[in-house]
Amino acid sequence: MEKKRVYTFGNGKAEGKADMKNLLGGKGANLAEMNLIGVPVPPGFTITTEVCAEYYDLGQDKVVELLTKEVEKAVANIEGLMNSKFGDIENPLLLSVRSGARASMPGMMDTILNLGLNDEVVEGLVRKTGNARFAWDSYRRFVQMYGDVVLGMKPTNKEDIDPFEAIIEEVKEEKGVALDNQLTVDDLKDLVKRFKAAVKNQTGKDFPTCAYEQLWGAVCAVFNSWMNERAILYRKMEGIPAEWGTAVTVQAMVFGNMGDTSATGVCFSRDAGNGEDLFNGEYLINAQGEDVVAGIRTPMQITKIGSQRWAELAGVSEEKRAGEFASLEEAMPEIYKELDAIQTKLENHYRDMQDMEFTVQDGKLWFLQTRNGKRTGFAMVKIAMDLLKQGMIDEKTALNRVEPNKLDELLHPVFDKKALAKANVLVKGLPASPGAATGQIVFFADDATVWADEGRKVILVRIETSPEDLAGMAVAEGILTARGGMTSHAAVVARGMGKCCVSGAGALNIDYKKRTIEVNGKLLKEGDYLSINGTTGEVYEGKIETIAAEVSGDFDDLMKLADKYTKLQVRTNADTPHDAQIARDFGAVGIGLCRTEHMFFEGEKIKAMREMILAENAEGRKKALAKILPYQQEDFKGIFKAMNGFPVTVRLLDPPLHEFVPHDLKGQEDMAKTMGVSVEIIRQRVHSLSEQNPMLGHRGCRLGNTYPEITEMQTRAILGAALELKKEGIIAKPEIMVPLTGILYEFKEQEGVIRSAAEKLFAEKGDRIDFSVGTMIEIPRAALTADRIASSAEFFSFGTNDLTQLTFGYSRDDIASFLPVYLEKKILKVDPFQVLDQKGVGQLVRMATEKGRSIRPDLKCGICGEHGGEPSSVKFCHRVGLNYVSCSPFRVPIARLAAAQAAIEE
Ligand code: ADP
Ligand code: MG
Ligand code: MG
Repeated sequence: MEKKRVYTFGNGKAEGKADMKNLLGGKGANLAEMNLIGVPVPPGFTITTEVCAEYYDLGQDKVVELLTKEVEKAVANIEGLMNSKFGDIENPLLLSVRSGARASMPGMMDTILNLGLNDEVVEGLVRKTGNARFAWDSYRRFVQMYGDVVLGMKPTNKEDIDPFEAIIEEVKEEKGVALDNQLTVDDLKDLVKRFKAAVKNQTGKDFPTCAYEQLWGAVCAVFNSWMNERAILYRKMEGIPAEWGTAVTVQAMVFGNMGDTSATGVCFSRDAGNGEDLFNGEYLINAQGEDVVAGIRTPMQITKIGSQRWAELAGVSEEKRAGEFASLEEAMPEIYKELDAIQTKLENHYRDMQDMEFTVQDGKLWFLQTRNGKRTGFAMVKIAMDLLKQGMIDEKTALNRVEPNKLDELLHPVFDKKALAKANVLVKGLPASPGAATGQIVFFADDATVWADEGRKVILVRIETSPEDLAGMAVAEGILTARGGMTSHAAVVARGMGKCCVSGAGALNIDYKKRTIEVNGKLLKEGDYLSINGTTGEVYEGKIETIAAEVSGDFDDLMKLADKYTKLQVRTNADTPHDAQIARDFGAVGIGLCRTEHMFFEGEKIKAMREMILAENAEGRKKALAKILPYQQEDFKGIFKAMNGFPVTVRLLDPPLHEFVPHDLKGQEDMAKTMGVSVEIIRQRVHSLSEQNPMLGHRGCRLGNTYPEITEMQTRAILGAALELKKEGIIAKPEIMVPLTGILYEFKEQEGVIRSAAEKLFAEKGDRIDFSVGTMIEIPRAALTADRIASSAEFFSFGTNDLTQLTFGYSRDDIASFLPVYLEKKILKVDPFQVLDQKGVGQLVRMATEKGRSIRPDLKCGICGEHGGEPSSVKFCHRVGLNYVSCSPFRVPIARLAAAQAAIEE
């Protein structure tokens, strides 16, 4: 039997149904389904997505040949139901040809309306309907759409408007009218003539008159539109595979442009912006197709309440609103009632918020589309929880309805919508860290801190950021960089801080000397106001008011629901009491990674630290470390306090020492003075610390093994803090973590130092505290020998940043030169530093967990890299059987939801 390529629908019957989206596309499948449940839909048929693949394999002619018989039969079916004939002069049937992929790609591909008209048929349509204006308006629209989409009519210069629009402007000017609907029937006839002349002129061909020729041209144009630039770009952004292809739906036309008893509109069963359970939408009387969204005329609201709200925002009087801008509810009450009943029926049927398109032809309502509506993160949470409360979905479905990453939008400040509408986009960069920020431009971290101390709000603008900018980043409202991608320093740090960031805005010419930014012909100075949207990457001139995102009761309810199903625990990466508190508020049940290096940077500590590093011998180092100890102990107290009763994994000092020493002359002179040695000595020592590959150099436990005094001091500070808190009745649960272990004995040495320092301290204080000693698994060798390491280590924490770096052999700081090309060529599907590479790095995680537990069955295993907050990676961690994931505070809710979804998927 021949393969079936065409599926018909109409008059309450359909060959397809809702769950056939892969074959019929979302639009085709739902048109079929609406037929089956008794919603009025004009009859038609859908050509499958498989034919799209054939089209690209076999070419146009072959595909038309394969389709001809089925299509002609399906057209005859429509003719029977509509009681008219395609191409007939006296009783013409007109068709629409529509695109539709599995996933909705609104506006990305092409549609052609009013197909089947020519100079003779249009006269027949006039006679049939007695409405010359309607017939010629339809013909004019058809020639324009077909010309644009199928015949490829384009402006000659990119500065020019669409050639047909140019002709309309020309005619309106000649007639001295302002609006399209003021053109007479004769004007419309004139337009069609000029349109066709323009087609002949540009393409050298006559406009096709044969109905079937028109139909095949349109069908092929829809297949072609799958590969147009904007569709390709959209797929890339949304991760939609090119292999899916588009279906083509051919359908009888219904007309919203037949006069004042006709209309067309778009509506939503709930609010897609804030999730409110309120039917809403827009419509236009005597209009067709995309008129509502095209912005030619101001559309009116569907409901009266929507109309009143709109009038208030737009400053329109009640009298004018109820007249010129009356809602559909008021203008066509009978139609409205039917529309409202059907939208309710559709939402109940699909059990989700619906986005629908409809047309009213001479007092009769027709549905043209329904789909699950796109929505903001906020609406996503509210709608899921409301549907659950309303008994329309169960708990597991509610949890699965929320995309974890979308929760991000709920947690950051947002721009005030009214203010945003008036703002001017200066430039676009990468949406590196979501949120909205507004403030004064400042170029240097130290200025940022000074300004912030004075109570000014600043945006730190840098060509790129480095660790030295941390303090400035911490006080800034947002961060904007000209260079660097989604894993650049600025991006990673900003996300960790939950701070808005736009990175890689290449069009910015930043002049640090003049303290100016030149961008697209504009010059901005230090102190000027700038606003950035880290969710979209947009940068605006001037100040835009922001409002704190409202974390609603629904959000809390969702999180509680997640906990009910979750097995994996979620901890946080936090280095300060402030971050620890935020994470607690978001529901983190411990700290999975507390880095200690930043504790050495501030104020007096950096001096003591430098003294330690620059010291000649162990004695000198101990002296300097003794100065740091009390500070560090205080830092730990703050963090343990915030995590009262929850475990805190503290990582011993990790980065290479050269990051701590002064590289500038002034700093070196200062240091020489403090230490009472010559600058030359300092300079030599700094020089001797520099390394070819610091990432692979003297860092991690290699530091602790060469300078055990550091490990000793840190152990005293950690356990000393815990002992002091014990007196105050606060429970600290320290887990001391040795970084960068590769060899069992590397770990054992450190463990020895830690345990003896602990015993010494406990003896001194006459009290003790429980703690554990474990290691990071971030070197492939550690994963390979995990059973050996687990014989000593009490826990594993997978440091997947370094583990990815070392497994791939990619330096994270140097990938910008090849990663974009790899992604472009599909050598890599995703950035492995953002999404855990399950096939490679993930296997090391799985193996190390299994090997470790073969020796120590209760070995606690967690992950603390950037991946700990990325949903697909979290789900992988669940499947591998880790005990917890740890991520930056603002990603805690995301990880909690992903963990619940992973448990449900089991
Ligand atoms: P998109 O996928 O871009 O939304 P559609 O295929 O939905 O494109 O077509 C766009 C618009 O054209 C629809 O919203 C509808 O107003 C109009 N349209 C499509 N098919 C018909 C039809 N059979 N009768 C009347 N209008 C139609
Ligand atoms: Mg549509
Ligand atoms: Mg590491």
